[in-house]
Amino acid sequence: MIRRMADRLGHIGHSSQLRDYPDALHPLSSPTSSQSAVSSYLSQSSYDHRGSISTQATSMSEWSSAGTDNKRGGFSMDSDMDIIEEDRSLTRPKLVRRPRGVYRLSDFIIQRTLGTGSFGRVHLVRSKHNLRFYAIKVLNKERVVKMKQVEHTNNEQRMLECVQHSFIINLWGYFQDTANLYMVMDFVPGGELFTLLRRSNRFPDPVAKFYAAEVALALNHLHGLGIIYRDLKPENVLLNADGHIKVADFGFAKAVDTTTWTLCGTPDYLAPEVIGQQRYNKSVDWYALGILIYEMLFGLPPYHQAETNHLILYDRIQAGPAKVAFPPAAFSDQAKDLIMKLMEGDPSKRFGNMRHGAADVFAHGWFREVDWARLEAREITAPYLPRITGDGDASAFDKYPEDDVSATYGLPTPDLNGSLFPDFEYTAIS
Ligand code: AMP
Repeated sequence: MIRRMADRLGHIGHSSQLRDYPDALHPLSSPTSSQSAVSSYLSQSSYDHRGSISTQATSMSEWSSAGTDNKRGGFSMDSDMDIIEEDRSLTRPKLVRRPRGVYRLSDFIIQRTLGTGSFGRVHLVRSKHNLRFYAIKVLNKERVVKMKQVEHTNNEQRMLECVQHSFIINLWGYFQDTANLYMVMDFVPGGELFTLLRRSNRFPDPVAKFYAAEVALALNHLHGLGIIYRDLKPENVLLNADGHIKVADFGFAKAVDTTTWTLCGTPDYLAPEVIGQQRYNKSVDWYALGILIYEMLFGLPPYHQAETNHLILYDRIQAGPAKVAFPPAAFSDQAKDLIMKLMEGDPSKRFGNMRHGAADVFAHGWFREVDWARLEAREITAPYLPRITGDGDASAFDKYPEDDVSATYGLPTPDLNGSLFPDFEYTAIS
């Protein structure tokens, strides 16, 4: 049975594109209201990335040396006690910092922009020493401070530094200069799952299952380290040259032993308890996996609306999935069952967060054919192999105006914020 899934996915893997699944490259074959919803959405806003949001305030610092943002708009002081308890979890031996390299900007030649965020850009760079390609995330310190994201930024570096997993981006090193923070990561050349999904409209069941299963393994690994990811969405799932996933963007990842409360994530993917400003735990990631599976199978997230109105969206999320449509052309009974169990509004009854934890998700019927050990070992061939012409081929990424921004990196500027990022060394100043 287990082998069947392997064979099936292996079979998909012989295709260099999703062409074995023509359905995946076109709207649903029989016109339905759901199809027209997908089509009209795609024609209106085909490739719009969805921004992440965060309350300006963040929790008290888990890492006391970096604790500068301790505003917590609207939350009672009672919660502080719990948060301090959470901090103890960070001294647990489970979160061990990996050895890292010492880098400086002059070690790299910047090639082009791969993506942009609220505080800076991600660039494709080439090492002058080993000639390999990397991605460098550049964050403008002033903007990070203005947007009250100091703690999240420190968390991103600290979480990534402790994590090593086949399906999670690898952080090689980090540094700062007077203006910017720099994080050196693997370059993941296959682009975003988001781009593949929007081009495909929706994925056939085995393809969605493959990506969902790899994401589930990545989440389970993070949760085992006490880390909640908090920003799962197709934009943050990158595809490696071999078609396997790499979860990127740890801007909201946080080490938490029990619960936390910061409102952050991407609106379509927020769990009801996050919107309700209740304390929450790792189960928000399992909820988001339910949304991701839905979006992969249908082409749109379950509470999607043509007009962006977050208040309406949040009302729908809090009303729960009972009214969500599951057109049989897109959803098998098993897929629907798993999605409903992941989208369960009561976190104590949500799959992934009950007595057996992630084992409930792994054992669900929709994943019946998955050989988890072989999948984790990357022995299952991916359903889509990105067309990569060679090392450093970034054609899978959208083009961004370069605006000569990289020429400003490393220029001396007044530095008012460096001490807020104590782990980032000033190696960039040569
Ligand atoms: P982020 O701010 O981390 O979400 O990154 C913004 C965008 O840059 C992502 O959505 C990707 O398109 C791209 N990106 C980030 N990290 C990498 C990476 N390691 N390799 C390739 N592209 C990346």
